Amino acid sequence: MAKFVLYSDEDLQRQHRELFEKSIDFPIEPVLPPKVTAAEFEWAIKEWRKNLGVANVITGSSLFNFIDPFEMMEIDKKSIPSAAICPGSVEELREALKVANQKAIPLWTCSRGKNLGYGGPAPRMRGSVVLSLHRMNKIIEVNEKYAYAVVEPGVTFFDLYNHCRSNNLKLWPSVPSLGWGSVLGNTVDRGFGYTPLGDHHQHMCGLEVMFANGDLLRTGQYAISHGKTAHLCKYSFGPSTEGLFLQSNLGIVTKLGLWLYPQPQTFISCTVDMDDPEDIEAIVDVLGELRRRDILQNNPVIRNIIAWSSMQGRREDVWDGEGPIPQSILKKLQKKMDLGYWMVRFGLYGPKDVVEKRLDVVKSVMSQQAPTARLRSYLFEGDDGGLVDATKIPTPLGGGQVGVPDMWTLPAVQYRCPKAAGLGAHTDFSPILPASGKVVLEWFLVAKKIIEAEGFDAYCGGHLHARHMVLINMILFDKSNANQRAAVQTIFQNLVRESKKRGFSKYRSHINDMDAVADMYDFNNHAYRRFIEGLKDSLDPNGILSPGKQGIWPKRYRVEQQTKLKL
Ligand code: ADP
Repeated sequence: MAKFVLYSDEDLQRQHRELFEKSIDFPIEPVLPPKVTAAEFEWAIKEWRKNLGVANVITGSSLFNFIDPFEMMEIDKKSIPSAAICPGSVEELREALKVANQKAIPLWTCSRGKNLGYGGPAPRMRGSVVLSLHRMNKIIEVNEKYAYAVVEPGVTFFDLYNHCRSNNLKLWPSVPSLGWGSVLGNTVDRGFGYTPLGDHHQHMCGLEVMFANGDLLRTGQYAISHGKTAHLCKYSFGPSTEGLFLQSNLGIVTKLGLWLYPQPQTFISCTVDMDDPEDIEAIVDVLGELRRRDILQNNPVIRNIIAWSSMQGRREDVWDGEGPIPQSILKKLQKKMDLGYWMVRFGLYGPKDVVEKRLDVVKSVMSQQAPTARLRSYLFEGDDGGLVDATKIPTPLGGGQVGVPDMWTLPAVQYRCPKAAGLGAHTDFSPILPASGKVVLEWFLVAKKIIEAEGFDAYCGGHLHARHMVLINMILFDKSNANQRAAVQTIFQNLVRESKKRGFSKYRSHINDMDAVADMYDFNNHAYRRFIEGLKDSLDPNGILSPGKQGIWPKRYRVEQQTKLKL
């Protein structure tokens, strides 16, 4: 059988293959979907092969493309799929769903499957069939005047960026830290990027969604046949439904309208450095206030020295002793790299006189409220009064902030591996906190203590929004090292316990933690979950779409899953 290819770009395909194939330290044994007999499964595979083509129904060893490359569970619990199917159109998707419905076969939807740290393409329920939509990869429209795009699930951030560039469109799409994921998958999973429109799901406008029975819905103004404002206005006539398809198993999103940022005349890249762990308090308070007042236009990204150095090389280059890197070594590193313990990046966008004025305000507020902060700014402008060219801005100052996708943070995953050995992996703990310096500092110190107690470094990176902050503790580890795996589990359990005590929930979670996180949303005897379960039962009576996604189980599995949880 022909080799499975996820990317037509050879370099991306190589990187994909290396990451997924090398992570296989266990045999991919054939598994059946839960509550499905071997004969029923065999029938379904035959039908899918007929409908989608043999090459688009994946079984056997090629399933390594659909596992979680960072999975830590024991072999018999790993989230291995029973097969993967790859429809190439809405019609093929409808046919694929028909087959799944007939035998109640659970499907796990993904687009490019690059949800790394959260499970990648792997299903929540072992034995589900991965429904990979990467072949549905058309850019349907990019509208320069109104600055939006309409894309299918398989369109990557690189695809959209290259399309804008090769057509000389004066638009900057927002991109996350790695460009190989899908625009649609990232948006519906509430992922983010770095331009002023970086909070992607807040800027989607007009979705097309297929339900389990093959029916097709369009949301908002997109619901009007031949409407003229499908992707311009989020209003619907009546309740809004778009949010029902975020982090959701109620439907499969087949088209996404997403607003893009108009290429500005000037971009000022700003960096702020502060030297001590406690300085996060001032950073959050000052920049949070500037963000609420709309002086800052994108969400500042705040990283500590551990986060930064993990992108530059391996830990053993900095420290090969036991335990976390000592403070004295970090201080030396800060000096050598000319960085603070904390470093912040944000940008200012627009006409030159406007952005310069914004910068004046930032300087004045910071000099009063964070006098020890080192603010640096770098202005880039277009030639002859034209628009600024994102490609002329060096990556560390521009990159994601000016909508240019790349892959340069991928090697960070090897941070804890010895040179030329080990299996790099990461898991993230990412609570949503109020944008309060005091609360963020307190949480950071709690998390740091928990992480360092297990001999790990307190990697911290966060996105500061106007009223909240998502603070990401990324735990980089060597998956082939049993001690590290155990330590990561301990860290995770302790972080969950402490965040629960304080009423903080996570913005996104690994498939294995979805039930635990969902359980925190418990007001009025889990009214939220009961509401969504009601919708699930009516929209997907056979329970075929992504069972267990975000802790929502179809009736077919609900009782046994909830019993398991209580044990
Ligand atoms: P990316 O490649 O951008 O990281 P993924 O394909 O891994 O995105 O998708 C991220 C998550 O979003 C998936 O785990 C899945 O739960 C959800 N998802 C992806 N594509 C769709 C879709 N077309 N419809 C509904 N949910 C989706």
